[in-house]
Amino acid sequence: METISSPADLRGRVRPALQAGKTIGFVPTMGALHEGHASLIRRARTENDLLVVSVFVNPAQFGPTEDLDRYPRDVPRDTALCEREKVDLLFLPRVADIYPPGFDTFVAPGRAAEGLCGASRPDLFRGAATVVLKLFNIVSPTRAYFGEKDYQQLAVIRQMATDLDLDVEIVPCPTVREADGLAMSSRKALLSPGGREAAAVLSRALREIARTRANGERRVSALRERGLAVLGAEPAFTPEYLEIRDAGTLDPIETCDRPAVALVAGRIGSVRLIDNVRLPCD
Ligand code: AMP
Repeated sequence: METISSPADLRGRVRPALQAGKTIGFVPTMGALHEGHASLIRRARTENDLLVVSVFVNPAQFGPTEDLDRYPRDVPRDTALCEREKVDLLFLPRVADIYPPGFDTFVAPGRAAEGLCGASRPDLFRGAATVVLKLFNIVSPTRAYFGEKDYQQLAVIRQMATDLDLDVEIVPCPTVREADGLAMSSRKALLSPGGREAAAVLSRALREIARTRANGERRVSALRERGLAVLGAEPAFTPEYLEIRDAGTLDPIETCDRPAVALVAGRIGSVRLIDNVRLPCD
């Protein structure tokens, strides 16, 4: 594995593979890698000739009062995980490589970025879409892999790829969970032991919604109530939203008469966590 920090060097390493007609798999991450990331990397490894992973904590997607400085970072561990998973190129740009002085152009995502996480984190999807587009332009991937754990982000990236004619296949990957159901996340490292235990409430609420839906309940209001009751029983959790939306457009719905997704976000102390589950239609 080669570790590269300069965009020009990365491009130079990818170019011969592209010219030889090889496929490039790409997994963009913010590091503090865990099994969730590893599942994306493994899939990308099996489906492509050359595998590029990026680790970049993207300042553009953090608001001024958010946890950019606190965000977990562990480059030696990330490097070891990538070595183990047979990554070819680990791209570790510095902030100045991606946002040099004078940088002044951003992607403006549309409806997919409104509401849900976009409501409380107005910079999130503008920053994420911008960095992903830049990374795509540097890496020229054939396929790029994104986790369904960040469901709204995946919707924003898909929409961007369609709208801006990006020549890349966006590959969605299922959420990897801990034994108690908690969706793996880098921010988990910031939880206290008590907070870690309480964090299972997100997936518990989503499971309750999925179970109620599987038993025939189609009314979104009734499904939400069941989920909110589970969340309300965990005093350490401060909910931000619990919504049930159209699985494709993320538009609000009143009845689960089409594929839907239940999405939840909230805080344990100052640590923000999100999760979601798909609700198939019958
Ligand atoms: P992050 O480093 O958190 O920005 O995540 C990088 C990529 O890994 C994104 O596409 C995430 O959706 C994905 N990812 C993060 N956690 C998980 C998980 N538990 N299961 C599957 N994918 C994940």
